Amino acid sequence: MQIEAIYHRPKDNYAYACTKDDLHIRIRTKKNDVTRVTLLFGDPYQWEDGKWAYKSTPMTLTGTDSLFDYWIAEITPEFKRLRYGFVLNDDTIETFFGEKGFSQEPSSDVADYFCFPFLNTADVFLAPQWVKNTIWYQIFPERFANGDSSNDPDGSLAWGSNEPTPNNFFGGDLEGVIENISYLKDLGVNGIYFTPIFKAFSNHKYDTIDYLELDPAFGDKETFKRLIKTCHDHDIKVMLDAVFNHSGFYFPPFQDVLEHGQNSKYKDWFHIHDFPLKTEPAPNYDTFAFTPFMPKLNTENNEVKEYLLTVARYWVEEFDIDGWRLDVANEIDHQFWREFRQVVKTIKPDLYILGEIWHDSMPWLRGDQFDAVMNYPFTTNLLNLFAKQSISSKQFVENMTNVLHMYPKNINDTAFNLVGSHDTPRVLNECNQDENRARLIFTFLLTFIGTPCIYYGDEIGMSGGQDPGCRKCMEWDVKKQNKDLFTHIQTLISIRKKEPLLANEGTLSFLPPELHSNCVAFTKSDGKQTILVLLNSSEQDINYTLPFNLKGKTIKNLFTSKEFAADIDEIDVKLKPLDFTILKF
Ligand code: CA
Repeated sequence: MQIEAIYHRPKDNYAYACTKDDLHIRIRTKKNDVTRVTLLFGDPYQWEDGKWAYKSTPMTLTGTDSLFDYWIAEITPEFKRLRYGFVLNDDTIETFFGEKGFSQEPSSDVADYFCFPFLNTADVFLAPQWVKNTIWYQIFPERFANGDSSNDPDGSLAWGSNEPTPNNFFGGDLEGVIENISYLKDLGVNGIYFTPIFKAFSNHKYDTIDYLELDPAFGDKETFKRLIKTCHDHDIKVMLDAVFNHSGFYFPPFQDVLEHGQNSKYKDWFHIHDFPLKTEPAPNYDTFAFTPFMPKLNTENNEVKEYLLTVARYWVEEFDIDGWRLDVANEIDHQFWREFRQVVKTIKPDLYILGEIWHDSMPWLRGDQFDAVMNYPFTTNLLNLFAKQSISSKQFVENMTNVLHMYPKNINDTAFNLVGSHDTPRVLNECNQDENRARLIFTFLLTFIGTPCIYYGDEIGMSGGQDPGCRKCMEWDVKKQNKDLFTHIQTLISIRKKEPLLANEGTLSFLPPELHSNCVAFTKSDGKQTILVLLNSSEQDINYTLPFNLKGKTIKNLFTSKEFAADIDEIDVKLKPLDFTILKF
């Protein structure tokens, strides 16, 4: 047994409260090494005959990545406290693993066991319940629809008449979203994520000038109120983008520092190295990346903090928004986000807080800061297999297993899964314009756990490279829309809504990738019913023998709604190149 590979710590993704009563305990072992793991556990203060009274339960193997196996046990501690250790067996030797290390026999001293001190309800990670049933649609407002030509910026181009550039404008606005609400209802999405809508200089609005005003080219506050009401009347949630890491160059406090230097009362609002400020050859103040037009805000300064928290409060209180997406969230201090959460959750407890972090994000997901992060590791893995074909389906399953075990289960349920955004090339471009590959990517996105997001226009087959290419005007000419792709995505959304098991109920398991080298297969099961999603990532016909005994059962194809009775033990599913199936039995 390779004991150096064994890992556990009594916190985060290895020991967490899944509900106010239940604990999940996980352990990692070397891949294909340990065959059985037993959890020994009990309340530290329960003793019998002078000995600590513990129980034992077998742990379940939940997945395997490229290097490790992961095991879980679900425990409901009677008195909310837990001490625990592991007995690991590889069919040759058996060893005990506790907080003090390894020993041949389970320790008789309770102090040698891991400690989960108390299951405090306040510590339970609890994302808003509605999120896991939400299918998001990301709108880049300048490019979705122009509903009011009177507010178009000077020099706006005719809709779709030019390729997008970093500086051009086409006049998209909030009225355009209101006018097209029936389109979104028809597609089936029930949440909109807007990239920034506050007053800013650029077309992307990530360079805020005034956080308490809407950009006049998008509409006024009355229009925004109407937009929120229209969305809420149609059961659509609204999430706004908070760009708190940096302001825009034309943010008045920054302009004041530019003008007055050391004498500006705002000099501590930014991270300034020396005076006077200069932008060339490199800014002498901290910025987003190295762009002088996005000076980093000093969120440790109390005035800045109060200002930004006022902003956070204002749009929730006055406009009843349902979520905040936090731009460049990981470059802001944790304490700021803790206070941010307190402020917004006090006003609206079920507001969704989504951080933009592209990496392992456990430190932000302990229940005191964010409800979710943008799951880019998911995106990368999905594109690498189905679009770029740079990994095998086995590697795909291993990578996805790794992503899933980076976080507690209740965090995965509300992970924000995306396949493209205003910051990435469009899915169709990633797929080299192969529509079948894009279709598979959306099939996976919309059948997997988490809360999926569709970037505007992807559903009708819009194309475009890295930004600004991915920010073209929405194609409203139905003759130029890919109706097949739209129907495909619409159907998947409708299945997801009808089948809670497919979305975020039940337990997810990948089928062993060894069963077929060209297939990705996973199941969701609640013990009574199972849904199987099977995707052929290759350009060959395949024959997949289902590893279940289904004789006598009725199998329903959820995508075609066809039912058939299984009358033999072994069922083969035939899939055409880049095809898929979703079966329920
Ligand atoms: Ca307009």
